[in-house]
Amino acid sequence: MNTKRIKYLREAEIGKGPIIYWMQREQRVNDNWALIYAYEKTKENNTELIVVFNLVTKFLEATLRQYHFMIEGLKEIEEKLNKLNIPFYLTTGTLEEEIPKFVKNNKASLLVTDFNPLKIIRNWQETVKSKVEIPFHQVDAHNIVPVWEASNKLEFAAYTIRPKINKLLPEFLVDLPKLKKLSQNISSPKINWENIYKILEIDNKVKPVEDFVPGENSAEKILKNFIENKLNNYSEARNDPNKNALSNISPYLHFGQISAQRIALILNNFDGNDESIKSFLEELIVRRELSDNFCYYNKNYDNFDGFHDWAKQSLNEHRNDKREYIYNLEEFEQAKTHDELWNSAQLEMVKTGKMHGYMRMYWAKKILEWTESPEEALEIGIYLNDKYELDGRDPNGYVGLAWSIGGVHDRAWTERPVYGKIRYMNYNGCKRKFDVKSYIEKFGKVDQESLFK
Ligand SMILES: Cc1cc2nc3c(=O)[nH]c(=O)nc-3n(C[C@H](O)[C@H](O)[C@H](O)COP(=O)(O)OP(=O)(O)OC[C@H]3O[C@@H](n4cnc5c(N)ncnc54)[C@H](O)[C@@H]3O)c2cc1C
Repeated sequence: MNTKRIKYLREAEIGKGPIIYWMQREQRVNDNWALIYAYEKTKENNTELIVVFNLVTKFLEATLRQYHFMIEGLKEIEEKLNKLNIPFYLTTGTLEEEIPKFVKNNKASLLVTDFNPLKIIRNWQETVKSKVEIPFHQVDAHNIVPVWEASNKLEFAAYTIRPKINKLLPEFLVDLPKLKKLSQNISSPKINWENIYKILEIDNKVKPVEDFVPGENSAEKILKNFIENKLNNYSEARNDPNKNALSNISPYLHFGQISAQRIALILNNFDGNDESIKSFLEELIVRRELSDNFCYYNKNYDNFDGFHDWAKQSLNEHRNDKREYIYNLEEFEQAKTHDELWNSAQLEMVKTGKMHGYMRMYWAKKILEWTESPEEALEIGIYLNDKYELDGRDPNGYVGLAWSIGGVHDRAWTERPVYGKIRYMNYNGCKRKFDVKSYIEKFGKVDQESLFK
């Protein structure tokens, strides 16, 4: 495996005991560079391999909807790992205590983990690093081109990172080996999955959604369906929220239940000049990896200070502009604005766990227009996105909101009230693009009482 994927968080000699892969973001067995690395090290050191996942009882705004998706996916991981003779442990409780304790109790020789640019995860990893006495290695198994290799700085926009990524793709977009059953002889623990749901300290009112079946197997089916039935039409129909043209793969990518690298490898077998393939790969690789770049190099990825200077200055100049409408969090959450189109987008998210990509832009920009300040707009946007979207709590979400509200990765546009030089979107623009009425028919008419019960 290309060692440029690895960051040596704590360097020391690898001793004798088992190797532990502390799984976090990449919740899959297939095509997972972090697991592959731990597996290769196990063979090289003639030792044993154990996988552990620590389930925290609450995480950002995640609710039962996202926990259910994750836990059901983890059950499949347990099954798949057991087939490979690799024990899977699920620890619960304070992560900073549990992982060092697990390392110690198992007399491990090496701790491997995956990569996530979010602050909360990086802080966990820092604490674990300070508490373990063995080598601790991190593998970027999320980005095709590891984030620290693609660029050593905060990139300005897609056009600045694109050539860097494209140049490195031949080196990193290579096939991933399939793991073979290990001959080790360590037994697997029995995980009491029913109990797991009982210890969560989360909002149980936001229910799991039926349309997205969790897990690696389901992710493969979703991808197959996209390639066979939707991909042809992707570039033409992707901005029409009435057309079912998107891949719907984002929840699976977010929870690491599928590898973007595998998807790109599969698509490389098709005609590379096809417009749909080109535009899908642009989103999957360039835009997605640009989000990781933003969160990795900008600790203010989720607040006003993270915006470009031109955007901050312009938004500051328009702070006192009169807003035609002002709503509070509850009114936004309950879809009680004057705008049926906005309400429909909000309800699509609350009901299905995934708002259409085009509507996400309109939705976020209107929050900027209808709140007292850009800070409040961003806070409300992040809160709702993280609470209801299956794919929320993700660099793509923080960047999507920062793009819409703070012009991140965008340029300055014609100045106007409230928005300043941030790109503007309006109802009439949507009307020109798609059949607004039929979108409102579909999502705006749901029984709101039962939805927010
Ligand atoms: C306000 C706002 C909030 C957003 N919140 C999230 C979020 O919480 N999680 C999330 O994954 N995406 C988010 N996005 C980005 C994008 O809207 C979603 O990735 C996309 O709609 C997911 O649906 P899909 O997988 O069917 O998309 P497809 O169009 O089929 O795209 C395939 C994949 O490409 C990547 N991709 C597509 N569009 C973008 C984009 N604009 N930026 C970065 N990567 C992209 C995603 O990984 C996506 O799964 C947000 C965008 C905006 C404007």
